[in-house]
Amino acid sequence: MNMDVLVSLSKRRGFVFQSSEIYGGTGSCWDYGPLGVELKNNIKRVWWRDFVQTRADMVGIDASILMHPTVWKASGHLDRFTDPMVDCRECKRRFRADHVDAVSWVHYCPATKGNKFTIPAGEPCGHCGQRRTLCPECGKGELTAPRQFNLMFKTFMGPVEEDAALTYLRPETAQAMFVNFDNVLQSMRLKLPFGIAQAGRSFRNEITPGNFIFRTREFEQMEIEYFVNPNERVEGRPADEYWHDRWIQDCMAWFGRYGLRAENLRLREHDRDELAHYAKRTVDVEYNFPIGWSELMGIANRTDFDLRQHAKWSGKSLTYFDEERKEHVVPYVVEPAAGVDRALLAFMADAYREEEVRGEKRVVLRFHPELAPLKIAVLPLLKKRDDIVGAAQTIRADLAQHWRVVYDDTAAIGRLYRRQDEVGTPYCVTVDVQTVGDSERGEAGDRRVTIRERDSMEQIRVPIAQLVTVFRELFDGASWSQLAEQYPPARG
Ligand SMILES: [Zn+2]
Ligand SMILES: [Zn+2]
Repeated sequence: MNMDVLVSLSKRRGFVFQSSEIYGGTGSCWDYGPLGVELKNNIKRVWWRDFVQTRADMVGIDASILMHPTVWKASGHLDRFTDPMVDCRECKRRFRADHVDAVSWVHYCPATKGNKFTIPAGEPCGHCGQRRTLCPECGKGELTAPRQFNLMFKTFMGPVEEDAALTYLRPETAQAMFVNFDNVLQSMRLKLPFGIAQAGRSFRNEITPGNFIFRTREFEQMEIEYFVNPNERVEGRPADEYWHDRWIQDCMAWFGRYGLRAENLRLREHDRDELAHYAKRTVDVEYNFPIGWSELMGIANRTDFDLRQHAKWSGKSLTYFDEERKEHVVPYVVEPAAGVDRALLAFMADAYREEEVRGEKRVVLRFHPELAPLKIAVLPLLKKRDDIVGAAQTIRADLAQHWRVVYDDTAAIGRLYRRQDEVGTPYCVTVDVQTVGDSERGEAGDRRVTIRERDSMEQIRVPIAQLVTVFRELFDGASWSQLAEQYPPARG
């Protein structure tokens, strides 16, 4: 599957727009549209429900994006969160030093009276044999020696733009869980092991963002810091190692539960030389994105590095008192960190299908019902009949008390179904002549409507009075085929 197909569907159907598009767009920033925001909220909601709400060992926080600047000194971001950059002395463009040979380059060839060529990445000139030494973009300027460029966005707190007021937009949500460790521990009277979760925005001034919403400068994270006592043993193993494996399994299973196919998911163990300096072990969950296998989330064992660093820089004790052993310990932390935007891209890519139905192409997003941005569409078969339209609008209003429901009468029924398939709406409810009857002829309606299921395209007739009960069963996880057996099929 091709990324352009998703980008175009996203724009056309209101999932994702380019930021500030009427002004030509902002570098790698994206806006979630009416369906995108529903999908994104649904992802965050099920994540929170499954990893916070239903677990006795988890609590959540929502911290501010602007933090004390010393947080970033202690965390290592000020000193280490950098990329080596080179600048062109002519055109002033800036490149990542390790990417400069990975792009095609402009060359004014001395062997052909200075004619201009664009030469593929990494290859020498076919005429003179030279390799790139100058700026790949303009072909004229020399490049500076590499300099370290910090990826944090700088800003100023307060009315004066001076160094003392300098602060940063957070590059990750994790640090707020560490600096609030003692507040959470004391206020909630928690016992190890326990975790703190947070979902929120982070900012990284990436030099080479791209691939739609895969890598952006402003993004949303869902992070968990799970604190364990490293002196404890679980099933014969150190607690941090045991819990690390548990979280890896739980995260893999979670993506599977909401629809990502097993063949598109895999784990990747970080090599020793690739591990962050504080990490004992890191495993990525990778997804087979349209751009190839790439990181969907990371699950790291960060040891006691963060709590020790913040204790050192703040002068506050960040320890836990183990009642049984009568000892103070600095907990180890396991960090499952996922990107919301990346998860959304994976769920969309995996749900996307092109199918052939009676000789026609059908595009369908097979979203898990919990993730689908719209749950139900209510459609009148004839929009000129006031009684049909009225009944359909009443049904929409009733169902909308429970779910995100839309009403649409702007096309013929076949087209309306295809529109809902394309955005992944699991069920359509159709109101027709049979439902309302014909008062002029004195024929009473049967007060039943047709429910059409997205994936099987099967249709059943259900009394209007039972709609809420039926949909509640379906959205609570009842299988369509079992439920459909209880109702007569509709003539499609
Ligand atoms: Zn240049
Ligand atoms: Zn040449």
